[in-house]
Amino acid sequence: MGGFSYQSLMHLGGVVVITHADIVDLGRLSTERWPLISLYLRIDKERIDEDYAIRLKNLLRDAADTLGDRFDHEQTEAILADLERIREFFQDSGDRYGRGVALFSSSRAGIWRVYEIPRDIESQISIGFEAQIAPLIRLLEQLDACCTCIVSRDRARIFYGVTAEISEIGEILDEVPGQHEQGGWAQARYERHIEEHVRAHFKRVADRLFQLWNERPYRFLILGGPEEVVQSFLDHLHPYVRDRYIGAIHLLMVANINEVRQESNAVLARWRQTETQRLIETLRDEALSGDRGVVGIDKTIMALQQGQVLTLLVDESLHVPGAVCSRCHSVQPETNATGTECVFCRGELVHVEDVLPSITTMAFRQDAAVIYPKVPELQAQLRDLGRIGAVLRFNIPSEPVA
Ligand SMILES: [Zn+2]
Repeated sequence: MGGFSYQSLMHLGGVVVITHADIVDLGRLSTERWPLISLYLRIDKERIDEDYAIRLKNLLRDAADTLGDRFDHEQTEAILADLERIREFFQDSGDRYGRGVALFSSSRAGIWRVYEIPRDIESQISIGFEAQIAPLIRLLEQLDACCTCIVSRDRARIFYGVTAEISEIGEILDEVPGQHEQGGWAQARYERHIEEHVRAHFKRVADRLFQLWNERPYRFLILGGPEEVVQSFLDHLHPYVRDRYIGAIHLLMVANINEVRQESNAVLARWRQTETQRLIETLRDEALSGDRGVVGIDKTIMALQQGQVLTLLVDESLHVPGAVCSRCHSVQPETNATGTECVFCRGELVHVEDVLPSITTMAFRQDAAVIYPKVPELQAQLRDLGRIGAVLRFNIPSEPVA
């Protein structure tokens, strides 16, 4: 039997790859006295026509230039020191990152966190008293763990990682007597003997997948191999693992890593499309019956305010100017946010160009799934529903509370 060891995928060369749990944690990160810088930088070494160092230099300069009188003298000094620390960090260590970086810094408050993130990020910087996690919420689906297993009657190769980045982590090789080898036994008995070996092999592979699931839970399982092999192997999986199964790829044992990634991602994309279609239909039905769904920005914000959102569906190009309460974080679209006081807590309203980052952060913090349809056809369906909507946890009152 082949060796089976897990490479550390989460800490490659001292670089910490961000996880869903990190984002939950960052969502709770806040400071009182000392401002917190949230920086996102696309490095993307696959594109040689761009230089992240220039992007970084511009971001840091713009951040320093636009501080104005938002902060007092000591706070401003602390921010400028952190901007310099960030510049030095990338000068020394930037080359260790190949995709994107999320960095959170408030040195005076003892905060310094750096993560490798997917390359699909818009470079930006913001300074406040909470970590800006909205850009990470858009990347969440790329962070789901996925396991792909190519299986045959005597071998298995196991791949694991976050979506689009799976790597091979183990191989299982079992001895199964050859199909054409003739023993002294009667043919039927000999074939039964072979089938017992195959079942034992399937059992061993299924146990490994369950062990992996226990150690590093994966959201998706994809199987590869001849169809009849995949079908009989499925019966050996633990029910928890079986529940993760979303489809098969038709690759043979000799497939290279790029083929495995490409085929796995195609299965994932199909699964997401079907799932998003189902959610949009649920949203439409529930919003029409007025029961467990709301569409449009105002009703969606109200549902969030009441902590009722189970799934938030957002058009990724939607931007809505408005205001956010600096005390209770409630969000108010421009049309409602005429005053300077929060209608809920009388805290100070801060006017912003776009309330969507606050909306998605609110949804994420109340444990809602945040979905951005990726396929044009689905995006069009969501636009017809007001570009934003939510499937709710329970019924909303039929009369709005005055
Ligand atoms: Zn408030």
